[in-house]
Amino acid sequence: MTPQPTDRSRSLFERASAVIPGGVNSPVRAFGAVGGTPRFIDRAEGALLTDVDGNEYVDLIGSWGPMILGHAHPQVLDAVQQAAARGFSFGTPSENEVLLAEAITARIDPVDEVRLVSSGTEATMSAIRLARGYTGRPVVVKFAGCYHGHVDALLAEAGSGLATFSLPDTPGVTGASAADTIVLPYNDQDALRAAFAEHGDRIACVITEACPGNMGIVPPRDGFTQLMQELTHQHGALLISDEVMTGFRVSATGWYGWEHERAGYPDGPPDLFTFGKVMGGGFPAAAFGGRREVMSHLAPAGPVYQAGTLSGNPVATAAGLATLRLTEELDVYPTLEAAADALRPEISAALTAAGVPHVIQSANSMFSVFFTDREVVDYADSRSQDSAAYAAFFTSMLEQGIHLPPSAFEVWFLSLAHTGDVLDRIVSALPAAARAAAGAQTGGTGSA
Ligand SMILES: *Cc1c(COP(=O)(O)O)cnc(C)c1O
Repeated sequence: MTPQPTDRSRSLFERASAVIPGGVNSPVRAFGAVGGTPRFIDRAEGALLTDVDGNEYVDLIGSWGPMILGHAHPQVLDAVQQAAARGFSFGTPSENEVLLAEAITARIDPVDEVRLVSSGTEATMSAIRLARGYTGRPVVVKFAGCYHGHVDALLAEAGSGLATFSLPDTPGVTGASAADTIVLPYNDQDALRAAFAEHGDRIACVITEACPGNMGIVPPRDGFTQLMQELTHQHGALLISDEVMTGFRVSATGWYGWEHERAGYPDGPPDLFTFGKVMGGGFPAAAFGGRREVMSHLAPAGPVYQAGTLSGNPVATAAGLATLRLTEELDVYPTLEAAADALRPEISAALTAAGVPHVIQSANSMFSVFFTDREVVDYADSRSQDSAAYAAFFTSMLEQGIHLPPSAFEVWFLSLAHTGDVLDRIVSALPAAARAAAGAQTGGTGSA
């Protein structure tokens, strides 16, 4: 195999490193956990990325979730061009905001009202402020390995980015903002009960990823979501379900609809939801929402302040609306499920043949591959995987033209364009990558 040219990416990375901290605008992009030169992408279409050196890759990052229809989908592109031609941002109300809010509330039953924002981080930050304002209580309960954006109070043992860099916490977050945060192991019912037994009357909310995906996919064990609902409702706290990753991706109704249908929610649905990624169609749009009685505490209807210059941006909302509409019209979810069903056994077969211990965990079509030999139920398990093996696997896939997420803690994101030939290309790269992983294993498991 002829080596890929990377001169231009290398040179851009050098220039970037002189003017942008670490050369990137979001840490995981720097390839710190996998080594090598981050590829500077020049354009993307369907399932494919092309970098500035002209190399083509099958994309399994999908911009970390939004690109569920594939890149530059013609109908979304058309909606974006039409919206942009009418102006980029008004700072006034506009019709698209109403349409997008209606599209979200129509899909997610327990959400009567949403407030649109520009990033998932803003959505979770605002939802927590609302929960504190609504309950008049200070304490937030979160789970180790769940990532909710870079909100100060939630950067205690956060997931993917920090896990990758093995930082327990970050400088710049004060003791005061961390002091009101309780971090518990995910899927640990006893720890959750104990936290409520001790602090129940001070807890404003529990925030959880609907189905964690930022420590790899770690589904809630039977009854865990339900216990969160029971305890929050018993103690007058709110449950915030963070569906920034899972919303409109796991199913048309996100993790909420999927889990509700299968397991039921005897204590009712979560009180607040956060959305982002897919609902922005690749543009900066996110949202938080819930029942009217809670949402009416937000300004200007109520006293809890929240605002945004670009909130409900007409171009971003046009992209989000077109994306949501097309997920239905184009039957996206069965296509994603078929692609995931085709890939999982091939990945497993290749790794098994090379003697690499692994576990694949899923939330419907969303899946991640852990380089470990046992079920992953929490962050400690996730962190014990063999990241050296993953780095070698990643690098081999990249050199064969498959761009996986540059971190062992991430989902492999599929899109409507991941079919036929694209899937074949992924599958044919697996055996060599699995052998590379075998050669790099740090010995046994749990030694990462
Ligand atoms: C990506 C993500 C966020 C943060 O969203 P940004 O748009 O990156 O700020 C929050 N929560 C979850 C579950 C996410 O996956």
